[in-house]
This record gives sequence, C-alpha cells and structure tokens, in this order.
Amino acid sequence: METLFTKIRRGDIPSTKIYEDDLCFVILDINPVKKGHALVIAAEPYPNVAACPDEILSHMMLVAKKVEARQRKVLGNDGSNIIINNDPASGQEVPHLHIHVIPRFTGDGRRHFQDHDRYEDGEMQKTGDLLRMN
Ligand code: AMP
Repeated sequence: METLFTKIRRGDIPSTKIYEDDLCFVILDINPVKKGHALVIAAEPYPNVAACPDEILSHMMLVAKKVEARQRKVLGNDGSNIIINNDPASGQEVPHLHIHVIPRFTGDGRRHFQDHDRYEDGEMQKTGDLLRMN
C-alpha cells in the first residue's frame, strides 16, 4: 500500500511544497498547530526511525534545522517544536517517516505534552539504570 506522502511526493495529491532534494521533501501541514507548520518527509516510505538509514535521518534533521531557521526569519517565531511521532502508539497517523517543524510564539497557548507520569521513590534511578548506554 502506498502512503499518503508517497502520493503527495509524486503529485497525485496536491501539496504546498517548500523544499525537495533526492532524500526528502518538505510540505506545509494541512492541519497546522501554528501556520507554517512544516513536515520534512523521507523520499522513501520508511515507516519509522529504526527503518531509516542513519545518513538519511541525519540529512532530514539538517533539513529540519534549515526549515526552522527559515520559519524564524519569515514568520518571526520565538521557538519551535521539532518532533517525530514514531509508530502508531506515539500518535503517528501516516506510517511514512516525517519530522514536524512547528513554529511557536511566546504565549501562543499551544500545549504539546499535556499528561505526565510520576516516578515512585527510586524508580527514576532504576529506569536510568535500565536505559543507560555508557
Ligand atoms: P503524524 O500524526 O505524525 O503521522 O502526522 C501526520 C500529519 O500529516 C498530520 O499533522 C496531518 O495534519 C498531516 N497531513 C495529513 N494529510 C495531509 C495532506 N494532504 N497535506 C499535508 N499534510 C497532511
């Protein structure tokens, strides 16, 4: 099954494209958290981060950095959210790797992570022990 973003890349579905190269392309999100919200999308339909070759993921992040700089210059945002929803459990709706670059303004009222876990006594240390990588 082709993904929505593959159809958009080919032009079968219209989009507002702001950048393209051999490895990725960038469109404006149709349902923006804030106007100018952009998606840096892999040219190939890797479903998630793990499936994406390191050099392509690195390249996409550099493109996201450039998009963010462009947003700040043109839109005047004070900050941004640069996020990947990675697999359906995280809220990913389109199973084709993309990085959200969302312009944010001081006091704009948008909330990103609304709910939080709370560690029991000692649990944060144990979790750190499990996750430690060096
Ligand atoms: P995610 O939930 O991380 O998979 O994000 C998918 C994003 O794609 C959502 O923010 C949608 O608003 C956006 N989206 C869905 N359809 C389109 C479309 N036709 N053009 C641009 N963005 C879209």
